Amino acid sequence: MKVYDGSKDVLFAFNIWDFESAMAVMEAAKETTGKVILQTSMSTYKKLPHKEFRSFVTQFSDNQGIRAWLHLDHCTDVQMLKNAVDCGWDSVMLDYSDRNLKENIEVVKQITEYVQGSDCLIEAEIGRVQGVEDNVGSREGNIATEHAIDTFMEQTNVDLIAVAFGNAHGIYEGTPDLHYNLVEYTTERYGKPFVVHGGSGLSDDVLIKLMTIQNVKKINISTDLKLAYRQGILEAKEKDLIREKGFQTTAVEECIFRSVKETAKAKLMLTENL
Ligand SMILES: [Zn+2]
Repeated sequence: MKVYDGSKDVLFAFNIWDFESAMAVMEAAKETTGKVILQTSMSTYKKLPHKEFRSFVTQFSDNQGIRAWLHLDHCTDVQMLKNAVDCGWDSVMLDYSDRNLKENIEVVKQITEYVQGSDCLIEAEIGRVQGVEDNVGSREGNIATEHAIDTFMEQTNVDLIAVAFGNAHGIYEGTPDLHYNLVEYTTERYGKPFVVHGGSGLSDDVLIKLMTIQNVKKINISTDLKLAYRQGILEAKEKDLIREKGFQTTAVEECIFRSVKETAKAKLMLTENL
């Protein structure tokens, strides 16, 4: 079943980087909402065995009794995007947001037909979310305008839409100045599922506020999980598990796994406030 088909749910989408992190996120979903999106960046996509990973996610989620979808995020490579569609990814994001609006629209239009000819959904971005995500992105953000939103939406037919509204990838410096009016403008006017990028580092209150806006359907979390991974390593070090004598890979991995899983769980549990 396609993600977002008639679903009223807001889904969290976590960037994973290997089988282990995918498992930690799916276990977090099992203990909370039972639904989650796993995202691969381009660099993660390159290193994973695609068909094997697809099968693994399907089988593991089925066995856990949960729903898990696979998404390719911020893809700037049309061939890779088509490959993900062919390998059974549930949704893909074409990121041509560094080009001008006209070029962004042209490429989105070209690729939409290919993606929608399968069971896969397509996401695109208007404006440019600031910050770098796995080497894709820019230091300078570019908040969308209502005019750009109208032009893009009138000329394309994407399934999911992301708009740069003051959100950022990575760690926020200070309190972000979010333009909620742009989220409302897009969702009310066009009724498409809306994607919030840069969910890491936004406070729980801000995330809940965004999730309660009608048609906000997907919240992306990447940096928080990376930091959870790092925290797991630090905990292992604190417990003296990194010592050379008697070093156990499983003991260290357990610290990382738990840290990633608990971080994902805390985010997923926010949907209980809706
Ligand atoms: Zn993003």
